Amino acid sequence: MICDNITVGQNGHLYFAGQDTVELAKQYGTPLYLMDEDKIRESCRVYTEAFKKHFGENARPLYASKANCFKRIYEIMREENMGIDVVSSGEMYTAIQAGYDLSRAYFHSNNKTDADIAYGMDNGIGYFVADNVEEIKAIEAEAARRGIKQKVLLRLTPGIDPHTYEAIATGKVDSKFGSAIETGQAEEITVFTLAQPHVELMGFHCHVGSQVFGEDIFERAAVVMLEFVADMKAKHGYMAPQLDLGGGYGVRYVESDPYLDVDTKVGQVAAAIKEACARLNIEMPEIHMEPGRSIVAAAGMTLYTCGTVKKIPGYKNYVSIDGGMPDNPRFALYGSSYTCLVANKMNEECDFVASIVGRCCESGDIIQEGVSVPSSVGRGDIVAVCTTGAYNYSMASNYNRLPRAPIVMLRGGNESYVAVRRESFADLCANDL
Ligand SMILES: *Cc1c(COP(=O)(O)O)cnc(C)c1O
Repeated sequence: MICDNITVGQNGHLYFAGQDTVELAKQYGTPLYLMDEDKIRESCRVYTEAFKKHFGENARPLYASKANCFKRIYEIMREENMGIDVVSSGEMYTAIQAGYDLSRAYFHSNNKTDADIAYGMDNGIGYFVADNVEEIKAIEAEAARRGIKQKVLLRLTPGIDPHTYEAIATGKVDSKFGSAIETGQAEEITVFTLAQPHVELMGFHCHVGSQVFGEDIFERAAVVMLEFVADMKAKHGYMAPQLDLGGGYGVRYVESDPYLDVDTKVGQVAAAIKEACARLNIEMPEIHMEPGRSIVAAAGMTLYTCGTVKKIPGYKNYVSIDGGMPDNPRFALYGSSYTCLVANKMNEECDFVASIVGRCCESGDIIQEGVSVPSSVGRGDIVAVCTTGAYNYSMASNYNRLPRAPIVMLRGGNESYVAVRRESFADLCANDL
């Protein structure tokens, strides 16, 4: 199986986190998001321990909230002593509701509104990660108005394309995010920020991409960033206390995806950082990373009930489910791969090839194409889509007025509880006047 929390029971049912998914579908209804709480905690601990081991006590993994954001997950992050990054006032609000201390939070986004900036300061946000000079001006103005000194990091683009290893290293200079080192804008914003009286520059940040498997992407990004740190020290006498290398480690959606060992990867990045610091003759800044997907993706699974099975002889077969792009838009957005299984027929041969499609009025409402399922698949079967813990619920919509699915947490091999309840029809009209 693609993840060690997925097994098959003697009854031929799919088990997730040690629990029978067919029973869970019966108990909670479908569509249903399941989250394996033990797996989330395990992933947090793997990162936390790897950071301590390779970077020292002050190094910190920050959970990238956007991967999956709801109250309970912030409670878990608080309990696991994880930092977080947020990208909106709504994420900050959710974290506050969970009792998460925002002084440990980093506020990203390429376009923070004035209201976001004020909301962050109202709630004692630890750090803003400023994207551009305009944003530094807005943060400085708001901090000045309040008579405070606000800690900030600067988001830079190191010019590394994470998806094509051989690509020219300037591939991402044209990104909508951050200020490019290559164009000199990174230095400009650094000098500008250092001159602001109500802003304290705490260091630099970069994020090269997501679902990254490339051999040495993070090592190369780290070296480019450290060369910039050394350059700023030499030219402007500014030594950055923190360096945040962003998120992006890939996870296994299908059998052909490799498995990344976080401890090994973090160890390799640490080795590259230590070597660069020695070569550049600078002390190692406090190192942060921001895993999102690799903390929660494999902790998630979505269950659906199968409806119509349509066979178009000589062309194509369709297996329709009772959810679709409103709960998982990723195939529609960028053709993402997923492993799909018929949860109550795990012992049957998969000899029927079909597209798993949703129930929305949209031809692009597809979860996955070319999936092999048992030929007996039909109405009432339970279809499971694996590795949906990241960028599914957080991207969910109410398209076609479908109520959003609930999140049920699993733990201890036999316990389950609702963390986010299923939306009702009344919820759908709650804001309609
Ligand atoms: C999306 C994002 C992350 C998390 O990326 P993953 O691929 O989910 O690990 C971290 N930092 C920033 C700035 C991001 O935009």
